[in-house]
Amino acid sequence: MKRDFSIWHTAFRGEKKELFPKRQRLKVWILFLLFTFAFPSSAHAEKLSFIRDAEIEHYLHELSTPIFRAAKLNPRAVNLLIIKNGEMNAFVAGGQNIFIYTGLLQSAETPGQLQGVIAHETGHIAGGHLVRGSRAMENASAQSMIGMLAALAAGLASGNGQVAIGAFGAAQSITERNLMSYSRAQESAADSAALRFLDSTEQSSEGFYDFMKKLAGQELIPEDQQSQYVRTHPMSQDRLQNIGHHLENSPYANKKMPALFNQMHERMQAKLLGFLRPEAALLRYTDKDPRIRARYARAIALYRKSHIDKALPLIDRLLKEEPDNPFFHELKGQILFENGRIKPAIVSYQKAVALLSDSALLRIAYAHALLESKDDTQLDKIIKQLTEADRLEARDPQTWRFLAAAWNRKHKITQVSYYQGLVFYGLAEESIALNKKEAASRYALRAIGILPKGSPYWLRAQDIRLETDKDPKD
Ligand SMILES: [Zn+2]
Repeated sequence: MKRDFSIWHTAFRGEKKELFPKRQRLKVWILFLLFTFAFPSSAHAEKLSFIRDAEIEHYLHELSTPIFRAAKLNPRAVNLLIIKNGEMNAFVAGGQNIFIYTGLLQSAETPGQLQGVIAHETGHIAGGHLVRGSRAMENASAQSMIGMLAALAAGLASGNGQVAIGAFGAAQSITERNLMSYSRAQESAADSAALRFLDSTEQSSEGFYDFMKKLAGQELIPEDQQSQYVRTHPMSQDRLQNIGHHLENSPYANKKMPALFNQMHERMQAKLLGFLRPEAALLRYTDKDPRIRARYARAIALYRKSHIDKALPLIDRLLKEEPDNPFFHELKGQILFENGRIKPAIVSYQKAVALLSDSALLRIAYAHALLESKDDTQLDKIIKQLTEADRLEARDPQTWRFLAAAWNRKHKITQVSYYQGLVFYGLAEESIALNKKEAASRYALRAIGILPKGSPYWLRAQDIRLETDKDPKD
């Protein structure tokens, strides 16, 4: 999966990047002009960020993989992107990208409801539906909007945060103005597809029905009070009736989801609250609340408020109860790491990686902590972790920045020029992940000059040259 956005830190990466930090504003404006988009500058005022979190992504992956398979989509080729925004919304843009707002993650009451939304969005992907402009939107604007959404997805895939975030700012203001929506026919088609996916995976459509029922209630209230989801996906009583009818006749109507999903769902919501609204989390989950999710949310909230001395004992107690929980180890690692306690942080991250080896985010965090330890005996381990992270999730600029740093240390110790070539190669990869094509091309050229002709990284550096020279704009 190609995904990369601003990096906060591993456990909860995201949020770091304000929509348009001052020095980038000019560039963003230029991008807006390039897209010939007459969108209000109010989009600039919004703060927007993506959230990366190993635990939440793991849960969403578990929920959605059967649905993607039922839709005959390659689960690795569909990106599920979490946007930090309290509104309830989700939509598909730029091909196989499902955007879900944290507001929706928070308001879905059960895993079944969330899975229903994912199934419906998957129905839009499978049906090849394009969101279209409606109402006052002229056709030409609709076309440029679609182009912009495509650019947004491409920007995200290539890690080009500026394009992605710029495009998203506009997309955001479009959805908010009710200028973007699917047609009613597409909504019905996506519903039918969702029901098919749920049936073929022998799962109940009850959650889907419940969520849609909640939304259908909004049909009658003023538009400006409706959730964004209703505005992007026009709701109707007909749709609800169809889903209800299907549910009544489905042999899987009463089938329950595994209890583990409820647990993942509750912990996701507790975690989001702890990270995003620590004050609210401490109010909602009092220190009398014995539930694991409550203590988890408190540990996160206290850490976010810099009460490390209170957060660590909480997380230690959680680890005593669930010693094999990779995300508890990860949280502990993050708290320790950010407070300069590198060695114990490494121990925690190592455990997290051992317990969930297919998470690129965990491996990057582990490698980062190892790098910070300045222990040169760990360099090979660092390189191995990052190479594996890249295999799991291509083109993360942080992976390549750390790899270049590790190779640079190798070069300093050994004075072997091969490592110098790898440093340039790593910088080329980082640059291309950030869509800095000119720099990528320059670094790749230097790598090619040093690395043995025909060696694997020499070949990859050649590929970068080809890729960067293709685009005449740069
Ligand atoms: Zn829809």
